[in-house]
Amino acid sequence: MEITLQNVTKVFQSKKAEETVAVDNLDITIPSGQLTGLLGPSGCGKSTTLFMLSGLLRPTQGKIFFGNEEVTPVPPEDRGIGLVFQNYALYPHMTVKQNIMFPLENVKMDKEEAQQKAQNIADLVGIGHLMNRKPKQLSGGQQQRVAIARALVKEPRVLLLDEPLSNLDARLRLQTREEIKRIQRETGITTIFVTHDQEEAMSISDEIVVLREGVTQQVGEPQLVYDKPDNLFVAKFLGTPPINFFDGRIENGRLMIGDANIAKYEGEDQEVKIGIRPEGFRIVERSSFKVTVDLVETIGRDTTLIIEKPNAEGETFRAIVDSEERVEPGTELKLSVRPTKFHVFNKETGEIV
Ligand code: ATP
Repeated sequence: MEITLQNVTKVFQSKKAEETVAVDNLDITIPSGQLTGLLGPSGCGKSTTLFMLSGLLRPTQGKIFFGNEEVTPVPPEDRGIGLVFQNYALYPHMTVKQNIMFPLENVKMDKEEAQQKAQNIADLVGIGHLMNRKPKQLSGGQQQRVAIARALVKEPRVLLLDEPLSNLDARLRLQTREEIKRIQRETGITTIFVTHDQEEAMSISDEIVVLREGVTQQVGEPQLVYDKPDNLFVAKFLGTPPINFFDGRIENGRLMIGDANIAKYEGEDQEVKIGIRPEGFRIVERSSFKVTVDLVETIGRDTTLIIEKPNAEGETFRAIVDSEERVEPGTELKLSVRPTKFHVFNKETGEIV
């Protein structure tokens, strides 16, 4: 089921009549049966958006549709949503089975049928063998699976996940996120996943929505957004190590950083910000883009060159190169930039040129 947010705005008013625009004119369509990541730094309005989708918050303006049905005034319990939070929120005195069955108690379902349903969902999320344990006898990852099973047991139309992996350690995070992806694929349920972690969002989502201060920055397939960022914020927010920025200019159809000619580039002569992905550099024989390497990190086949005082204009930057030969600190290298790995931004607005 497709979800549409139509010009949705949420303004919070404090007692002193101060206004916070948490979500500003959000106008997006969330595709049916896919996993969409809502991504952005802390305070950008992700949770507020999720709460409006769940019905726990009413938009100040705008409309929300589930399919063709407008749900803006519909209370949470009538929306057909499953909610999972960061802190699991399981009932500690109940067993796993009782926790999962809890949402079924208000719907008049035959006990045996309810038990069967709970067991099926528990098997699906991989905790079918733990039904008689209490939450405190489970690992964090298992507890989060119980919370997911409980959200799914009523067969919701939409699954809403708010930073569901934040309380897990690094290894469990990875495992659980793959698990969430699998469960989403198998159930085909339209899922919205809130996170501030770009790597998490990129790896799990069919589509991402990047937010900044309540405003949508870009929507699209993760790889597409990474390869073709619409603005400097998006380019900066996606990718580890992050993209490198340089002050540069377009001059006579060429892109220049200081005296170095980076590429041919059509466009009006102007000062620009140039973003180059760390993996966008190559060591070459001839180039006017010369740097002296300050530090070298080697992990597997990847060599990361750290250039702390670039001769070109810019701050410390990182170049990940696939080098057969060892590069020693202090070496002067000539670099070229791969054509798809740099982006040119307007110096004032940060929009792509
Ligand atoms: P985080 O990743 O830190 O959870 P977020 O992207 O989910 O952040 P929100 O919780 O949606 O951000 O908050 C968006 C903005 O709205 C923030 O500036 C926040 O301070 C403000 N805000 C959220 N809830 C309220 C509230 N009840 N009253 C006033 N301001 C609020």
